Amino acid sequence: MSLKVSINGKLFDKADAKISVYDHGLLYGDGVFEGLRSYNGKVFRLEDHIDRLYASARAIHLEIPMARSELAEAVVETLKVNDLTDAYIRLVVTRGAGSLGLDPRRTSDPQVIIITDTISLYPDELYEHGLKIITSGTIRNHPAALNPRIKSLNYLNNILAKIEGTNAGCLEALMLNHQGHVAECTGDNIFIVLKGVIHTPSVDSGILEGITRQAVIDLAREIGLTVIERTMDRHDIYTADECFLTGTAAEVIPVIDCDARPIGDGHPGPITKDLHHRFHALVRGETRS
Ligand code: PMP
Repeated sequence: MSLKVSINGKLFDKADAKISVYDHGLLYGDGVFEGLRSYNGKVFRLEDHIDRLYASARAIHLEIPMARSELAEAVVETLKVNDLTDAYIRLVVTRGAGSLGLDPRRTSDPQVIIITDTISLYPDELYEHGLKIITSGTIRNHPAALNPRIKSLNYLNNILAKIEGTNAGCLEALMLNHQGHVAECTGDNIFIVLKGVIHTPSVDSGILEGITRQAVIDLAREIGLTVIERTMDRHDIYTADECFLTGTAAEVIPVIDCDARPIGDGHPGPITKDLHHRFHALVRGETRS
């Protein structure tokens, strides 16, 4: 059976799920998106993702032609039709087809797309042994140019950094902000552990407010750990006891090396491992039917 993709509430076979080449999502990256996951047939933090999608849309002056509840239901329905329980879900809202000019007033019909598919994950051994990362020369978007809090369809900034990472043999790359402070990785937020305390760049460091990031902060605080959101420098990463990344696809993954400097003893640390297991249990617990 072919996978079904939902466009504006209608289901299409994957091969027939198409939008116009005049869509400003394609022509200009004019649109917003979300990446979600389902476990045991239930979507993790669906409302938070929907909230972030609508906030991104509002920030770019795009009205999503669907109520939040309708969109949430359409996500669940698309998963069900595709008989997917453990899936990756991509929500995309484009500005819609228009003329060959920037003006969004000359577009009509924003397209609301829901793709549900199997998820591609980092290999297990990376969770066991940890990731190596490098700092990319490409900085994160200046918040006054395109605020990283907006999950826009224009991901070139992150893609350029990702290319630098993969060229250096690393699956993730660290991105600094316009002030030279640590922001985040190309598709994940970053955390360190120093003397038992967790630190992560604050939202004003120019990051996407990751939903996994928030879940891990809450989880750490619940078990009595201190979490500090602050301005961070590469020095903090190089001298940390532990480092890990968070994201919907990655969950919690250890980082053991940054710019060829081993972090801590060069192995995933105990707090990282503990949070990885706790997050794993949390998502499966929250989504237990
Ligand atoms: N930062 C960036 C730039 C991202 O694209 C993502 C999502 N892939 C994240 C952080 C992590 O966010 P979340 O935990 O909501 O997936």
